Amino acid sequence: RKADIECRIVVLGSGPGGYTAAFRAADLGLDTVLVERYASLGGVCLNVGCIPSKALLHAAALIDEAAHSSDIGISFGKPKIDLDKLRDFKQNKVVGQFTKGLGGMAKQRKVRTVQGVGKFVSPNELEITGDDGKTQLLRFEQCIIAAGSQAVKLPNFPWDDPRIMDSTDALELAEVPKKLLVVGGGIIGLEMATVYRALGSEVTVVEFMDQLMPGADKDLVKPLADRLKKQGVIVHLKTKAAKVEASKSGITVSFEAAEAGATPALENGTWDRVLVAVGRAPNGNKIDADKAGVQVTDRGFIPVDRQMRTNVPHIFAIGDLVGQPMLAHKATHEGKLAAEVAAGEKREWVARVVPSVAYTDPEIAWVGVTETEAKAKGLHVGVGKFPWAASARAVGIGRGEGFTKLIFDEKTHRIIGGGITGVHAGDLISEVALAIEMGAEAGDIGATIHPHPTLSETVAMAAEVYEGTITDLY
Ligand code: FAD
Repeated sequence: RKADIECRIVVLGSGPGGYTAAFRAADLGLDTVLVERYASLGGVCLNVGCIPSKALLHAAALIDEAAHSSDIGISFGKPKIDLDKLRDFKQNKVVGQFTKGLGGMAKQRKVRTVQGVGKFVSPNELEITGDDGKTQLLRFEQCIIAAGSQAVKLPNFPWDDPRIMDSTDALELAEVPKKLLVVGGGIIGLEMATVYRALGSEVTVVEFMDQLMPGADKDLVKPLADRLKKQGVIVHLKTKAAKVEASKSGITVSFEAAEAGATPALENGTWDRVLVAVGRAPNGNKIDADKAGVQVTDRGFIPVDRQMRTNVPHIFAIGDLVGQPMLAHKATHEGKLAAEVAAGEKREWVARVVPSVAYTDPEIAWVGVTETEAKAKGLHVGVGKFPWAASARAVGIGRGEGFTKLIFDEKTHRIIGGGITGVHAGDLISEVALAIEMGAEAGDIGATIHPHPTLSETVAMAAEVYEGTITDLY
């Protein structure tokens, strides 16, 4: 069969990994095609992930800030929420602006975009099926698979009922339910819980593990758990949503304790809506990778080497479908690398750390080795912790509950990890990531002059606490 489209390199999927890879490949002079199932570029992150969630979290933060401002003598009335306008802000003013921008950037670089679902038919060909069912055969010399991931749908939930939502549905903001159950207390579940609670829902969160945000150190999560409690969010740990039934009056859910034989922490209840946020599954099994000879694990991940090559040397894979952490900034980093290697540059991935951030209130951010991991691996580490109650800036904005914690190798005093809880923790963690990448020692960080009064000073202070050059905090 004659190919309808021929190119030097094709990128399958236009998420942050895919569009970065395509743009970089084009910038390096490769004739590039970008294949995307949906009409708008940007993938999960831009359309139904990072960006719309942060726009809604901004609204939540405004509502909360106004509610707490009476603590400092300024009172606003009860917020009036215009859901149509809020949706318009999220969808058109924020997401729409950037999807359009990506379209323009693709054109500028002469990246050809093809809309449709791509599947391999041979090691050098993809068949692309459009919305109208028509197919096109695309022949490529090299390929970067960037097909991402999708929300895990628990099998025992009645998914045909619109009141059962995944994160994409929740971001649509069809209504503000009176009572919302969030199944899964990870980053996505808690971000959406934050949004809906601020908008007025009574929120209950159930989490299977013994802490919220599994993966982060427990101490980092505590200020968030305390605040959620104060705000009336009900949280049950070690609890699993078991049976779910939809009826006219709502969604009735029964629970099981995580430990066999234990009594569940809460009894059956009925909610107006249920958000299921229990993780994401890679899309590796959905592209007929076997027809190209590309290995895929049972779970749908595609194994790659340090240059993002699959077992088939001219096919690369990047982003959520190559493994954890499933984060946009990991995908973009990998996308750039894969394009550069495909173009013949001699590079490999040696990033030591990928920061994780929950944009809850307070934010929680961590990078490198966590204390829990250090203990489990038997590493000899020391910790410098600076409580924000001792930061005049944090107290001045009414947010002294946070803290900054740095983790050092006891022998070398080199920083190997860090975590921050507090407002803007997600912005502040970059300094810690840079310090780890640069192999900084505690003394270097403590001696770096930070502007006063800023939250960033707490990073230097935590290093000084570790070095013993400030001792009068506790
Ligand atoms: P995706 O973004 O998943 O893109 C894959 C693209 O490929 C999609 O557009 C899909 O339509 C397309 N595709 C798949 N299969 C085919 C096919 N066969 N043919 C054609 N096209 C196909 N990460 C962060 O770093 N920060 C955050 O704040 C953050 N917030 C999030 C909030 C939510 C609610 C969610 C769900 C995720 C969030 N993430 C966040 C995770 C982030 O969205 C992902 O890590 C990121 O999008 C992964 O990028 P990717 O390029 O691997 O793939």
